[in-house]
Amino acid sequence: MNLLAFKRVKGGVHPPEKKLTSSEPIKVAPLPDKVVVYMQQHAGAPAKPVVEVGQEVKTGQVIGEPQGPISAYVHSPVTGKVTAVTKVSSSVHGAMVEAVVIERTGEDEWELLPKVDFDRATKEELIELVKLAGIVGLGGAMFPTHVKLNPPKPVDTLILNGAECEPYLTIDHRTMLEKADEILIGVEIVRKILNVKNVYIGIETNKQDAIELLSKKWKNSVEVVPLPTRYPMGAEKQLIKFITGREVPSGGLPADVGVLVQNVGTVLAIKEAVVDRKPLIERGMTLTGEGVKNRGNWWIRIGTPISWVIEHLGGGFADGYEEIKVLMGGPMTGIPIGSLDTPILKGNNGITVIPEQKRKSTNCIRCSYCVHVCPMNLQPYLLDLLARKKKYDEAAEIGLLDCIECGSCSYICPANVEHVKSIKLAKKVYRSLRGGKK
Ligand code: SF4
Ligand code: SF4
Repeated sequence: MNLLAFKRVKGGVHPPEKKLTSSEPIKVAPLPDKVVVYMQQHAGAPAKPVVEVGQEVKTGQVIGEPQGPISAYVHSPVTGKVTAVTKVSSSVHGAMVEAVVIERTGEDEWELLPKVDFDRATKEELIELVKLAGIVGLGGAMFPTHVKLNPPKPVDTLILNGAECEPYLTIDHRTMLEKADEILIGVEIVRKILNVKNVYIGIETNKQDAIELLSKKWKNSVEVVPLPTRYPMGAEKQLIKFITGREVPSGGLPADVGVLVQNVGTVLAIKEAVVDRKPLIERGMTLTGEGVKNRGNWWIRIGTPISWVIEHLGGGFADGYEEIKVLMGGPMTGIPIGSLDTPILKGNNGITVIPEQKRKSTNCIRCSYCVHVCPMNLQPYLLDLLARKKKYDEAAEIGLLDCIECGSCSYICPANVEHVKSIKLAKKVYRSLRGGKK
């Protein structure tokens, strides 16, 4: 481990890793009978449905078109018939969202992406194909990848994010072990688009097998950088600082320091779009936690209802718990799911089912633990206070928008203050008061 580099990263916590599924190979999930495909499963404007009730659709057929410069295509994950184009309540978005419901009628009949000759294709043609494939950041951010691949400033460094620092989740780890050759093809496609020489992959030291495998397989192409096992090592700004020493300015983008970061799953999706002509209709996902009977890693169709996932892949909820919670994602940043009708989204790297532990919040005791662990050098206790008092401008002055919502402050707090909850809400209100501007 690079100890000098280790000292460059501030804050963070060490929650129990609980990587219960790290030795479970990724299996292909059976096809669900019904999918519910949200038109809003990316950052930016929702897609516009372009299918009607009663219409037959093929796997990979476009069912939603992007609206505006930051948006994404949405494709049918199965072959079937559209049974509804409707608004549904989404506990992920905290709002009603438009969705296309499709009943599967049989096995996959594919509608593939246009064919490109990778050796001859221009950068613009490759980016257009990534756009047509509906690829978004699969690490959870869901930012449209074709926009990200066209950064506002030139970049000289590509970093692959293989940290997977969130407890419980293991899908990136397994993907690196099982799809190393395919990911490397994706790297070459991104390298051509960006015209970058320096390519790194950051992997936490708790995935030694992946570090060893990729160091061997990728030795002439990509530098493997072992990262300290510390949450939130996989956050973009932390990764960039550790690997390159460059610091993304407050309110800035990685491109401001010449870097672009891509999750390993996203790079695999780029390879599948360009080489196999497959749009993004499935993704890798970990189903985990003590609250579910069977745990594992799965390739699963987007739009599959979580109730189906828990029943058919998880064997149902585990016995013996009075209350359990279902999270889309891991325990640190995952979103609690209010309804099991919620479907798998493009950015959904895991479903974590864990016993509910009700923690009673008390008053802040000014211990400053939250300040010490904040990787963004913020004062979480003060942000929480200002947010709860609705003093949004003052909160913004001390870095409200720099919060990466990692949850380290709430995790460490002896008074169980729920900083992230109040900070998230304050960011939303502050942005809406400013007309959506940063
Ligand atoms: S960790 Fe909790 S109790 Fe300590 S200063 Fe922060 S908010 Fe207050
Ligand atoms: S204030 Fe934000 S960035 Fe800092 S520890 Fe809390 S959630 Fe993480």
